[in-house]
Amino acid sequence: MSRIYLSPPDISPQDHASVEAVMASNWIAPTGPALDEFEATVASRVDRSYALALNSGTAALHLALQVLNIQAGDAVICPTLTFAASANPICYLGAEPIFIDSEPLTWNIDPDRIKEALETHKNIKAVIVVHIYGQCAQMDRITELCELHNVPLIEDAAEAFGSSYNGKPAGSMGDFSFFSFNGNKIITTSTGGMLLSNNQERIEKARYLANQAREPVIHYEHKSIGYNYRMSNLLAGLGLSQVADIDRRIAGRRAHFEAYKEALERLPGISFMPLAKPDTANYWLTCLTIDPVESGTTRDQVLAHLDANDIEARPLWKPLHLQPIFQDKISIGGEFAAGLFDRGLCLPSGSGMSNSQRQFVIDSITDKFKQSTQTL
Ligand SMILES: *Cc1c(COP(=O)(O)O)cnc(C)c1O
Repeated sequence: MSRIYLSPPDISPQDHASVEAVMASNWIAPTGPALDEFEATVASRVDRSYALALNSGTAALHLALQVLNIQAGDAVICPTLTFAASANPICYLGAEPIFIDSEPLTWNIDPDRIKEALETHKNIKAVIVVHIYGQCAQMDRITELCELHNVPLIEDAAEAFGSSYNGKPAGSMGDFSFFSFNGNKIITTSTGGMLLSNNQERIEKARYLANQAREPVIHYEHKSIGYNYRMSNLLAGLGLSQVADIDRRIAGRRAHFEAYKEALERLPGISFMPLAKPDTANYWLTCLTIDPVESGTTRDQVLAHLDANDIEARPLWKPLHLQPIFQDKISIGGEFAAGLFDRGLCLPSGSGMSNSQRQFVIDSITDKFKQSTQTL
């Protein structure tokens, strides 16, 4: 059996056909009709008025912060339990991240600590909320706090395409939202992202910056520093077939989560990521924690055992306040997220993973626990 990966791309014959059709059209230079269609499809799927396809989610966040005029001396709230890409663009603009601990209900940014931050730091100019592992954060409270303090809200929905919160799609809330279509996400364009908003002027400003800040004249005229951040029409062709397949992808990942839970929850010391409302998550990755005292083994021993069986698993995100590059930044709490990092594990969750591959992962973990109890 070949190596089982954490979250590899899931490419169907429809994806091949969709990319081939763009190739045949010769719209690869790099804009074209597939890009427009991809933007419109994603925007309508998540109830947004305007969308801008980009070459990464990171680029989307950078543009959102820039359009909101974040600059040196400003502070931006960001959860600590996330990928570094949720915070790096704050630093591109010379602003300072303020990291916030997770809450236990969803593992997302803790609204009580956002409140504390907004009341104590007067230079906070934006809040970034992340829907970690495809489960939405407590958006009602967070939105209310941002409105009360008149601070714009950016939804990092990189991991949450297809999720929802109280009937609202992930990516439909906040002043801006963005998705990532990187190869490991629930739908992919190889690399890619999308910025969304209901404010046309803001999206058009971002589109201008993403396109080298070219002025709308026949020659090359520039009044601002721009970026080369646009998605190619060829990759938008892949995005179109991927987005059409989102329901099957969520169902596949959910089936993995449920089978893992059924088989592994009874092992001593294993707890699954809590799901506040199971029907609203997209099940991007199955995550669990292993308590070393109760289980007689450790997360790292389980990881090593899986690797020896040619199974790729990973620890949860290492909290950003513990990253060497961010060690001098302000962090409000962080102990809960640090505990998750010590004990947390993500299991192979790809929608293309077969049931027999999944069973092999389950058997490998069960074997490791049996060995551990025998040696106690
Ligand atoms: C993947 C990811 C990003 C970055 O997206 P890219 O497309 O890889 O730039 C940002 N935030 C989170 C939470 C992510 O998981």
